[in-house]
Amino acid sequence: MHEVTLMSGILDTLRENARQNGITRISRIKLIVGKFSMALPSSLRFAFAALAQEGLFQEAWLDIEERELHCLCQDCQREFGPQSSYCFVCPDCNGQHIKILAGREMLIDFYEGD
Ligand SMILES: [Zn+2]
Repeated sequence: MHEVTLMSGILDTLRENARQNGITRISRIKLIVGKFSMALPSSLRFAFAALAQEGLFQEAWLDIEERELHCLCQDCQREFGPQSSYCFVCPDCNGQHIKILAGREMLIDFYEGD
């Protein structure tokens, strides 16, 4: 389950950032997870519960926003979204030079604490 590895990295980032800012308790963590990031929110929550045991995270609420897939056809410059299911073929010109603009990210939007 690679969500454990991902969450472990996120917690390390939060620990480091909280230490630098003198934060001892985190109340809320907001993550942005692209639907194409291959990370399942339910697995991330499970990993969070398993890994975030210490006081810093004791009262932390984990908020996960899923971001839709958003793609660009580099042949006709059309942008298209999740209604076209996957970004493999352009719905307009059938071009296959597709760039994924959003939906593959996995990042910390913000966190709150004191
Ligand atoms: Zn196209």
